[in-house]
Amino acid sequence: MDRKLRVAVHKFSSCDGCQLAFLNAGEKLVELFELADVVHFAEAGIVDPDAPAELAFIEGSISTHEEQERIRRIRENTRFLVPIGACATSGCLQALRNQADAARWFADVYSDPSKIDHLDTATPIAANVPVDLELWGCPVNTRQVMATVSSLLLGAPPRDDNEKICME
Ligand code: SF4
Repeated sequence: MDRKLRVAVHKFSSCDGCQLAFLNAGEKLVELFELADVVHFAEAGIVDPDAPAELAFIEGSISTHEEQERIRRIRENTRFLVPIGACATSGCLQALRNQADAARWFADVYSDPSKIDHLDTATPIAANVPVDLELWGCPVNTRQVMATVSSLLLGAPPRDDNEKICME
């Protein structure tokens, strides 16, 4: 490829802790910005959610109708899609609603739940669109994330089994 790899980091329902895996990477993050074209990473001030990318990291579960539509658009615009962290790979805390009467929970919390965009379930990314690799952890491990980025920048497939395991 004669141009830089386009990389995106997208947020869905989550606490933002896994995006910190990038922001905590220090010099490695600076290297990433030099080697790759980061097209969307809202927490780093880069906002273009519909930008096509070769590699997209996804934080968070799918918990609203808007998120359901957005992850489908991202899948269409992305070559290699990697959910990161427990929210994106299992649903995490948001998925507690899956065992309950979600409509009743929302009615108990909000005076007018019809104004809140929500699904009755919170699901991992893989339950909504095909994914290429998952990085597990809560939060995901910074070294694990940067190792995956490095492998893909070098044109080497990440090692699936190892990448799924938190390395700390
Ligand atoms: Fe936050 Fe954990 Fe979800 Fe990451 S997996 S966004 S750290 S709750």
